[in-house]
Amino acid sequence: MPKYIFITGGVVSSLGKGITAASIGLLLKSRGVSVIHQKFDPYLNVDPGTMNPYQHGEVYVTDDGAETDLDLGHYERFTGVTTTRNCNYTTGRIYNEIIKQERRGDFLGGTVQVVPHVTTEICNGIRSVSSPDVDVVISEIGGTVGDIESLPFLEALRQFRQVEGSSNVLFLHVTLIPFLRKAGEVKTKPTQHSVGRLREIGIIPDVLICRTEKHLDKEVRRKLSLFCNVDEEAVIEAFDVKNTIYEVPLNYAEQNLDHLVVDCLGLKAGRRNLRPWREYVENVVNAKHSVKIGVVGKYSELLDAYKSIHESLNHAGAHNSATVEIVSISSEDIEEKGPEKVLKEIDGILVPGGFGSRGLEGKIQAIRYAREKKVPFFGICLGMQTAVIEFARNVLKLPKADSFENNEKTPDPVIHLMEEQKRIMNMGGTMRLGAYPCVLKKGTKIGKSYGKNTISERHRHRYEFNNDYREQFEKAGMIISGLSPDGMLVETVELKNHPWFVGVQFHPEFKSRPITPHPIFRDFIKASIK
Ligand code: GLN
Repeated sequence: MPKYIFITGGVVSSLGKGITAASIGLLLKSRGVSVIHQKFDPYLNVDPGTMNPYQHGEVYVTDDGAETDLDLGHYERFTGVTTTRNCNYTTGRIYNEIIKQERRGDFLGGTVQVVPHVTTEICNGIRSVSSPDVDVVISEIGGTVGDIESLPFLEALRQFRQVEGSSNVLFLHVTLIPFLRKAGEVKTKPTQHSVGRLREIGIIPDVLICRTEKHLDKEVRRKLSLFCNVDEEAVIEAFDVKNTIYEVPLNYAEQNLDHLVVDCLGLKAGRRNLRPWREYVENVVNAKHSVKIGVVGKYSELLDAYKSIHESLNHAGAHNSATVEIVSISSEDIEEKGPEKVLKEIDGILVPGGFGSRGLEGKIQAIRYAREKKVPFFGICLGMQTAVIEFARNVLKLPKADSFENNEKTPDPVIHLMEEQKRIMNMGGTMRLGAYPCVLKKGTKIGKSYGKNTISERHRHRYEFNNDYREQFEKAGMIISGLSPDGMLVETVELKNHPWFVGVQFHPEFKSRPITPHPIFRDFIKASIK
């Protein structure tokens, strides 16, 4: 039977619960304990697939084709464990399930209620990720304690502990200890109140993780321990890290958070080995080069919209001993000012995935600049599609070439709707989603990057390269370097006479890990340093 760690958040949102959850997973894994992570999101969307990345950050895609919260990306990057669709539940998904049962008549006339039906469904969700291979399930509850919408989740956790026994369940509360400059001191009161709310529900946290910009002295720890009913050694400081988020688990290790968890849950664990992780952080700190990568997208100011891409660039940077300065560029800015002006100082250009028409022309201009000026270019999903449009317009001289998504009336739809997408009307979960195999051409840049022929990568798109144009493209110097095994879908392209110009229909950013950077990102950064 697995053990369970439940992570809640107090005082404010954006405390980095996901990074904390991921870090604990890494610490346990480094001691030979197998873990799986899970995130519960209290909003009513059935999944984040239809949510605006501007509001909610990137949509992370799993191998099994679920569109999930970006915290699953942290879990995978820290632990290397592959998540599934059961690793992310929203209130919407849970209600959807119950309402379907109700409509089928499964409740035989009974009244359907939040308690017990919703709470039972939540408990089933927790159990859905446990298996004989899993020692510890780490479930993070989104939102903040005190939110109306998190209540059913907290009630479910309380029941869960009652059923499983308190020795099998650990509650960890991530909280904020604000520093008041004028008073010159840190304040514990918001945390006391937040833990008080948890206690009203019947949950007493075993561990407090305290986000703080000032170190916590003995007196503050004693206070937190006494008023929140938590052992003093279970008051863990989460000081803002300097260089990289991958330092967080090292901080926790210094405070022996893993010993605490292992003892509380009575886990069988080996000695901690964080050597590769430490080496990674050292590589980040001691980087010899520096490189400027322009990410040309629809969202310029919000880093979370391209979270996994930014992390992948950082992993690749550390591997190449380079600090990657990520310059977020709005493609509309390029439309306004022209590519020369905006991209002058940039060493490598990346165009990420996206939907809709806004800013597309600016992306096309950026890609033309990269192609003509021989600046390393990396196009992902919509980024590859846009590279295809650019090539069609400016090299094949098809001035009206476009994607069907951008212009349904184009005479040259070089990117068109996939056959199986034509009859689909609903939005949620209906794209080509999840892991698919791809066969790479020998001797191509991408083939050399991976060092193998058959790869598997995750997808999230409706449109694809139009095969009617394949010959024209190849004759003019665009290499079709990767195909689906049946040869029907163009998955990757690259340019012949260019130092490094690669486009991929899939999303490699979901599979990059700090210690094993993704080969395409690795070589893109290498080319950009040159
Ligand atoms: N909008 C494009 C499509 O649906 C690209 C999607 C993406 O970049 N993820 O095919």
